[in-house]
Amino acid sequence: MARHPLAAVLMRRWNGWSEQGVEAHLPDRARDLLAQLVGPGTPPRDATLDEVVAAVPASRLADDEHWQTDPLARVLHARGQSLPDWVALRSGHLGTVPDAVARPGNASDVRAVMEAASTRGAHLIPYGGGTSVVGGVTPRPGDRPVISVDLAGTTGLHELDDTSGLATFGAGTMGPAIESALAVTGRTLGHFPQSFERSTVGGWVVTRSAGQESAGYGRIEALFAGGHVETPSGPLELPTHPASAAGPDLRQLILGSEGRLGIVTDVVVRTSRIPQTVRTNAFVMRDWDTALSLGRTLAQWRLPLSMVRVATPLETATTFALVGEGRGPRALRHYLGMRGLGADRERCLVLVGLSGRTAIVDAAAGEVARAVRDLRGVGAPGVGRAWRRDRFRAPDLRDSLWSAGYAVDTLETATDWTTLPDLAASLGRTLRHGLEGVGERVHAFSHLSHVYPTGSSLYTTYIFRLAADPAETLDRWAQLKRAASDIVTAHGATISHQHGVGRDHAPYLAAEKGPLGMAALDAVVRRLDPDGLMSPGVLLPDELP
Ligand SMILES: Cc1cc2nc3c(=O)[nH]c(=O)nc-3n(C[C@H](O)[C@H](O)[C@H](O)COP(=O)(O)OP(=O)(O)OC[C@H]3O[C@@H](n4cnc5c(N)ncnc54)[C@H](O)[C@@H]3O)c2cc1C
Repeated sequence: MARHPLAAVLMRRWNGWSEQGVEAHLPDRARDLLAQLVGPGTPPRDATLDEVVAAVPASRLADDEHWQTDPLARVLHARGQSLPDWVALRSGHLGTVPDAVARPGNASDVRAVMEAASTRGAHLIPYGGGTSVVGGVTPRPGDRPVISVDLAGTTGLHELDDTSGLATFGAGTMGPAIESALAVTGRTLGHFPQSFERSTVGGWVVTRSAGQESAGYGRIEALFAGGHVETPSGPLELPTHPASAAGPDLRQLILGSEGRLGIVTDVVVRTSRIPQTVRTNAFVMRDWDTALSLGRTLAQWRLPLSMVRVATPLETATTFALVGEGRGPRALRHYLGMRGLGADRERCLVLVGLSGRTAIVDAAAGEVARAVRDLRGVGAPGVGRAWRRDRFRAPDLRDSLWSAGYAVDTLETATDWTTLPDLAASLGRTLRHGLEGVGERVHAFSHLSHVYPTGSSLYTTYIFRLAADPAETLDRWAQLKRAASDIVTAHGATISHQHGVGRDHAPYLAAEKGPLGMAALDAVVRRLDPDGLMSPGVLLPDELP
């Protein structure tokens, strides 16, 4: 029997992250901790898929050769993975739903969809894996019909230039398919965002994504060699020069364009040889100051590391609590106590990734161990291996926490080392006290996810209770998001280190680009998309400052 085209998608939970019917176990210890920290949660009543599909408004378009208006497909493309998206999906109050879903198979299909949409006055929203956490794939209300352009048909390895290490993929290819196609040739892309299993190479490029091992392989900016983009004004070919002094690099325009300039159909990436050795070493530092100092030192020594992650004391304690109270964590605590490593609640976990030729990895590991010893930290055996094993599973907890009555969201930024300590402290404080006005508590904790010689990203997770009314939950989120974004911009930090701008960060973009910068970006959008076909409201707000 032929498989329904939505079968693969339906393996995924339609209104969350984990696989259908699979819910990560939430240890009792974690439940008790959350009850203590923010209060007991009340499990919500989620809408069913049937209820949501039945309530979908009629499409403003008719089916044709370019797209379908099937209500189920429209629901499955209506939202991404942001907290407002979750509230909408779980409550069943979806708001605006795309009028149709197009599934082009290549660049010329994309062109045909653009032309047909243009004659019908419709907007297009490119849809890769739908993992946007900033409202990038969420349609907004408006008079013009909206078509979601699902790039799942543009997948696969099209070409491999083994001599240059360049591989051309269809933009809709997801992480596991990229790595398995390259593995048979002895290569890897080395781009592992936490959403790796569900996000696409086209999505990574247009959101300037950062993978967990980007210290070694580089962010997607370093891996994106070129490709093909269909813009409403015509095709744009991006050559794969290894370097060029011929004026501004147009690849930089497409990186971070979030669908506003057109649809990326083919992506050429720079690949690497599969490393001989891969390790994740874990260390525990006595407090935040020494942990920060270690992160900065490792970045400034410019060691060949693939990853450095530095958790605050609160994130360290929360991580250990969520893991549970098995023999392993008990033994680790006992060992750290014996090594005289400060108080439990002050300790910070640091993870260091190493990959490459074994001799280089060994030498770098020795230097890391020396830096840790100098700061009187200790190794945490087994923790690095466990992190690597579960590194794509942590988001599954969002589903279990939601079922237990808690909302979880994350926000991320980057700034220089001088500003970082104050930014981290201010953000934590702001979020923790952010719902006092409505009598609610918030648990917020952070880690440095990517360190650089001059500064670092700061990735913050915050958890609060779901309200009985979904609108109230959304209001709680909006208060926290606003307060946190104000702190980020007041510190001159970026509104996004890796998740992009989407709709949720668009009002804050001007704070870092300035009025002239915003006008320049707007002029480029107008030149490539004169009729405003593509994703209105994403990246650039409607009203420029
Ligand atoms: C649990 C979780 C963990 C995450 N972890 C990370 C992480 O570690 N690092 C990181 O960088 N991000 C992370 N993200 C964010 C997200 O996965 C990235 O932004 C990712 O790059 C989006 O890819 P996607 O294919 O899902 O794109 P989508 O979500 O489908 O789209 C994102 C934006 O790009 C546009 N778009 C998509 N494809 C194209 C195309 N071919 N041409 C033009 N425009 C297009 C869309 O219209 C939208 O504006 C995470 C998200 C989740 C839910």
